[in-house]
Formats: sequence, structure tokens, C-alpha cells
Amino acid sequence: QARVVAVDGPSGSGKSTVSKRLASALGSAYLDTGAMYRAAALAALRSGVDLADKDAVAEAVRTAKLELGTTPGDPFTRLDGEPVDAEIRGAEVTGAVSAVAGVPAVREHLIAEQRRIIAEAGAGIVVEGRDIAEVVAPDADLKVYLYADELERARRRSAENDTDVSATAADIARRDAADSKTTKPLEAAAGAVAIDTTHLGIDAVVGRMLALLSN
Ligand code: C5P
Repeated sequence: QARVVAVDGPSGSGKSTVSKRLASALGSAYLDTGAMYRAAALAALRSGVDLADKDAVAEAVRTAKLELGTTPGDPFTRLDGEPVDAEIRGAEVTGAVSAVAGVPAVREHLIAEQRRIIAEAGAGIVVEGRDIAEVVAPDADLKVYLYADELERARRRSAENDTDVSATAADIARRDAADSKTTKPLEAAAGAVAIDTTHLGIDAVVGRMLALLSN
């Protein structure tokens, strides 16, 4: 089986940037499972179902067609054939994603899809998310947990999305709390190397991961 790297961590920990860079450096594929949950949340929103109705949400997600690009230079997300890259980062989806990701049947469906993508990645794959090391790919060759101070995470996200730092910090805190109930630990899984990215640049983090892989 080709090499699998699991990168978990909260919002703003540097997961996406680091995972894409690492995948490029390794010549492997890249999978953003957060984008899958975001696209699933958009599918639920578009279907007009009550987000509290778990069966209806799961059905809306199962009938939606999600396509994820796994090239690190072009990791697109499509919903029912349409590009949704910008929309899934917007406030509406960000506000709904934790609830949708908390539906067990949604997770079951997406995890099966994630495992299929991983199994098909012939040149290896870097997979980022919240539960990759613990649930999706427990046999991963390298498991890394990225984290950073809350304020630094909020600064990064607000710079990315051009939003207010304190509003972003509140949003991150709310999502951390909701997510820690569903994917359980917002902490390093057993066997994962925890890296504090608060004061580390992207190159330093990627370098550390490459070193861990060559050991
Ligand atoms: O990583 P990102 O912030 O884009 O993830 C969006 C949301 O998707 C998270 O807040 C979480 O609710 C959900 N998620 C999840 N399991 C994953 C990845 C993301 O529940 N593996």
C-alpha cells in the first residue's frame, strides 16, 4: 500500500497549507476532508432540509454528488457537477458544517468515500482533517497533529478570509467546541506527533514532517 500521511488539527492550525506543500514535495495526492464536510453541509443547506433532522440531512448528503480534486496544486471541490470552492468557505456553510458533520450517518458515508480515495492513491496521499489518524486511516505511515494558540489561529483565518480577528476568534471557538463533541478529541491521537505551529513557519513544519518520514 502507498504511503499515507494523516494531518489532523483545529481550524487555523496550518493544516491545509502544510498538507498541500507536503503532498507536492512528496509527489503524492492530497485530500481535504474538511472540504468534503463543507460540501456536504452545502448540499444539506441547498436541499432546504431542517438541519436538526438527522435522517433528512443524511439523505440529502447521500444523494448529492461530491467530487474532490486530489492534486495538491488544484484541490477543487464540486457539488452536483458545479465548483463550490468559494461557497464552502463562506459564513453560511461555516456556520452549518459542525451540525452536519455531527450526524453519524453523514460521517459514515464520507468516511467510506475517504477510505476509497485513499485506497486508490497509487503515489501515496496526504490526508487532512480532524479524525484521520484515529478513525479514517489508523494505519497511516505518519500521523501529525498540528496546533497553535487560539489568537494566532484567529489571526491566520482572518487574514485568509479578510474578516475581523475577534469575530473570527469567536467563530473558531464555537466550532472547536462543537467539533470536539463529534470528532471527539481536538488533541493528538495515539501515535501522532504533535507540532505547535504558533511560532513555526510553513517550511519549518513541512521540513519537520519530511524528516519524520525519512527516519
Ligand atoms: O478543516 P475545516 O475547518 O475546513 O473543516 C470544516 C469542518 O468539517 C470542521 O469544523 C468539522 O466540523 C468538520 N470536519 C470533520 N471531520 C474531518 C474534517 C472536518 O468533522 N475529518
